Amino acid sequence: MTQRLFAELGLSEPLLQAISRLGFEKAAPIQAEAIPLILAGNDVVGQSQTGSGKTAAFAIPAVEFVESKHHAVQVLILCPTRELAVQVAEEVYKLAAFKRGIHPLPIYGGQSYDRQIRALKQGAQIVIGTPGRILDHLERGTLNLQFVRMAVLDEADEMLDMGFRDDIEKILGAISGERQFICFSATMSKPILELIRTYAPNAKTVRIEHKILTVPTVEQAYYESRGHSKTEILTRLIDLYDLKLGIIFCNTKRMVDTLTEELVARGYSADRIHGDMSQSQRDRVMLKFRSSGLEFLVATDVAARGIDVDNVEVVFNYDLPWDEEDYVHRIGRTGRIGRSGRAFSFVAGREIYKLQSIERFTRTKISRHQVPSLEQVEEKRTNIFFERIRKSLQRGQFREESRIVDRLLEQGFSSTDIACALVHELRKDEGQRVDSPVKSEAMTASSGLAGNDRKRRSKSTDKRGSNNRGRKRRR
Ligand code: AMP
Repeated sequence: MTQRLFAELGLSEPLLQAISRLGFEKAAPIQAEAIPLILAGNDVVGQSQTGSGKTAAFAIPAVEFVESKHHAVQVLILCPTRELAVQVAEEVYKLAAFKRGIHPLPIYGGQSYDRQIRALKQGAQIVIGTPGRILDHLERGTLNLQFVRMAVLDEADEMLDMGFRDDIEKILGAISGERQFICFSATMSKPILELIRTYAPNAKTVRIEHKILTVPTVEQAYYESRGHSKTEILTRLIDLYDLKLGIIFCNTKRMVDTLTEELVARGYSADRIHGDMSQSQRDRVMLKFRSSGLEFLVATDVAARGIDVDNVEVVFNYDLPWDEEDYVHRIGRTGRIGRSGRAFSFVAGREIYKLQSIERFTRTKISRHQVPSLEQVEEKRTNIFFERIRKSLQRGQFREESRIVDRLLEQGFSSTDIACALVHELRKDEGQRVDSPVKSEAMTASSGLAGNDRKRRSKSTDKRGSNNRGRKRRR
């Protein structure tokens, strides 16, 4: 696995700032390979799937190259669909956040020509468009490709499958002068290879090779997040399976922060670990996690490297990793030393492609499960509660308690009513008790929370007991 930080790729400060704001912690393998080659001026052909981080692999050097003072189209990115063009334009926009005067512009069919012409006249330097509409603008004379220094074909196989070959060739033919040619495609079919031979015979090829890894035998399932937030599904699963020790992986530091706060706000005992925290902060969180003072650790891949905790029951892929090897490393944190473990992944929209490539790489089938309903979660919790009471009854000997019950009986209440009232109080208490939710290390550091508070928190979660103390449930 290629593990490289963006700072090692020779990028300028404004780009590094933008990447840091996006919360990317390390370069995806395709980025680590392609970015230095593109920056060095090579034509590059990359074989990569959606979800591999390929957009940033070409968008970062594109933003790096553009001269902001020159108000002409300098980078042209061709995409198969309007949706993808908009998505790529958004990513370019975010990456250009700290480089002043860069104007990306998506151009696609269905939007008014006037708006697009106006934006082109205002000096857009990075144009991201579908071949049909780009060609229309060329033929109308409203798009000038004279100053283009970089042409990118994104999802080239899709574009050819959709019959855009002639359009692409006409567009590429209209770019005069020296330009870099970048092509990303999930597959390398014959027509694509022909295109590359014509337009970039000396292109460097980037393909991500994987080591053969042993996939741990843990139960793997995925949930589609359609209609539910991932956090909602996550908390339902924690409640349904009564999970008490798990790692939740996110792809960005920002997502780790957000999710930790959401979990804490919902009353779960969770803390975070990511690359923006100091070593001593990370050590403290890990100590808490190991010593049962914390139920859920929310982490990025980089920060979680080397975490070695034996009885982790579950690994959640809140975000699917873009690197299939990371998936294997992640799920290997559970089911250690012959124990059973679970790996649950959440899939939103296009992430299904990532899941498919993980299945191909690991040669395993990850089964799709239905998101449990609130009723199912409730029923399961009732069963757990029932079991608890039954075991307590079997253990017997309630001398102290029987005095209270006798007093209530003397006052004329029936034993059934007394039992019902006790169950009611107990369950109400379980649902509403807020034993000061566990605040995160990072939050503690920034807000300067005093030690007393932390003591109270760890007391509320110090035994990973059977009754989920300290967990406020919100339904
Ligand atoms: P793509 O393959 O370009 O469609 O990217 C898939 C998703 O991964 C996008 O939402 C990107 O914002 C995100 N992404 C790309 N590079 C990184 C990175 N280095 N770290 C974390 N997320 C990334």
